Amino acid sequence: MKIGIIGGTGFYEMKGEEIEIETKHGKILAYYFEKHDREIFFISRHGREHVPAHAVNYYGNMEAMKKIGVEAIIATSTVGSMRKEIKVGSFFIPYDFIDFTKRKSTFYDDVAIHVDMTFPFCPVIRKILIENSLKIGETKEGIYAVTEGPRLETKAEINMLRNFAHAVGMTLSPEVVLAKEAGICYASLCIVSNYASGMQEKLDAQEIKKVYEEKREDVMKIIDETISKIPESRECGCKNAPESGKL
Ligand SMILES: [Zn+2]
Repeated sequence: MKIGIIGGTGFYEMKGEEIEIETKHGKILAYYFEKHDREIFFISRHGREHVPAHAVNYYGNMEAMKKIGVEAIIATSTVGSMRKEIKVGSFFIPYDFIDFTKRKSTFYDDVAIHVDMTFPFCPVIRKILIENSLKIGETKEGIYAVTEGPRLETKAEINMLRNFAHAVGMTLSPEVVLAKEAGICYASLCIVSNYASGMQEKLDAQEIKKVYEEKREDVMKIIDETISKIPESRECGCKNAPESGKL
């Protein structure tokens, strides 16, 4: 099985052979290596130049994964916590999300395909991620609110969002939707890099950076264990999502 890793902020490259994949949305750079008898393709979400969340080539990244034949994706990102019990430096694994962005989120412009998002994430990979993450550090599950960025949220926005979600970030959508439309298993491992606006004195980008840099090795360990445990057979149903969504 080919497994994809989409690395968030702080994860720009992994050791491996550099390959370029042509897509309708431009050339995508991936790093290829083998691990636990699996073929792994790493794509840095923000690219080498680190473009901000709203400018990420989500379509190119996911099209590249599909083109390579990736069947399962582990995505990493950083989030802000909107709840005191979800601590800075801990891990957050979303089970659902609410999209507050203004981004287009479909591959299907010409055919009516309505993918079911009752369970946005692959249940099998999510379970493996949770088990491995708990072995390394404090891990909570919850709902991820996706905001447009690149600015951080206002206090009023956070006060509203925390009624519906547990953590806030900028990159989950459209990525998770495109994975579903592509029939690829997808789960997300987030590092809580800060408390959201109004919960800590001020939001300092350097502080946020320090947290994810400290967690980099832990994230690598969790990904490594997860790669070894993803089952070869896909009994989760993710691959049927586009077909089931056809009118
Ligand atoms: Zn799946």
